[in-house]
Amino acid sequence: RAAQNIESAFLFYSEEMNQRAKEHLRLETELRLALVNRELQLYYQPKVSLRSGRIVGAEALLRWRHPVRGLVSPGVFIPVAEETGLILELGSWVLEEACRQVREWKDANLIMPTIAVNLSARQFDQGLPARVAAVLERHGVQPEQIMLEITESLLVRGADNVIAIMNELVAMGMALALDDFGTGYSSLAYLKKFPISTLKIDRAFVTGLPYEENDCAIARAIVTMAQQLRQEIVAEGVETAEQMSFLRELGCDQLQGYLFSQPVPAADFERMLREGKRLAFNSR
Ligand code: C2E
Ligand code: MG
Ligand code: MG
Ligand code: MG
Repeated sequence: RAAQNIESAFLFYSEEMNQRAKEHLRLETELRLALVNRELQLYYQPKVSLRSGRIVGAEALLRWRHPVRGLVSPGVFIPVAEETGLILELGSWVLEEACRQVREWKDANLIMPTIAVNLSARQFDQGLPARVAAVLERHGVQPEQIMLEITESLLVRGADNVIAIMNELVAMGMALALDDFGTGYSSLAYLKKFPISTLKIDRAFVTGLPYEENDCAIARAIVTMAQQLRQEIVAEGVETAEQMSFLRELGCDQLQGYLFSQPVPAADFERMLREGKRLAFNSR
């Protein structure tokens, strides 16, 4: 009887795995088509200064409008793309599209803040600086206009050539931001080895502010250290005025989150820039 249970449990398990593998494969196939069928789009989420309240940047975030599934979250398709290697093509598309958009905005005489693009660790190889330079040049975009967001997994890989590639990008004039800081394995001291100008505190530590003591302590430690290393600090996922006030008093430089704006289509971001939308500090 026990054996029978084990057997049926195994059948159930393998059936579930089978389903998941099929779903995975289907997503992969459809994601390839998405590139061809123009189902991908970039949304932009503003970053605002905690001193001036003004928009000082934006993060480009990938969106997939599937004809049947509707809007598919990057949380679902980015991991599939990472596993299959399709992230390389997606990543190229994202950089290309961000540069095309920046060019269009500049041609329309908009004063552009820095636009950040997320990079997968898989995109990080010897050829990256040249590939990036070629895209920038094709669109006539200055390297200072684009920021690259990388994650700790890349630093932990720790190879010397990672630092060399980063140095090359920085020498070109690009800024590097460390995304989701605090969720990975890199220690604070470790950070100074890398030419990173901006730290983004992960939303996981922002959510509990200002009521969770541990989150407050972590946020304080990150901000203090970043100030010592002369890095800019961006808090991710800021949703409430209380969180904003706490971060502002800590000396955090910028905020990105639903409190100011969700990620929005290019036209909506453009409108915010034109209207000079600002963060209100007295909304406690
Ligand atoms: P991320 O780079 O850390 O981006 C921030 C995520 O937090 C975005 O989710 C954004 O919509 C969300 N967010 C921002 N403010 C708030 C807030 O106040 N509350 C809440 N609940 N969420 C907030 P999104 O757009 O779903 O992207 C998820 C992740 O997918 C990104 O995390 C990034 O790791 C990845 N991703 C998105 N676009 C790209 C891309 O073009 N390339 C690569 N490699 N990864 C991407
Ligand atoms: Mg990011
Ligand atoms: Mg992030
Ligand atoms: Mg994050």
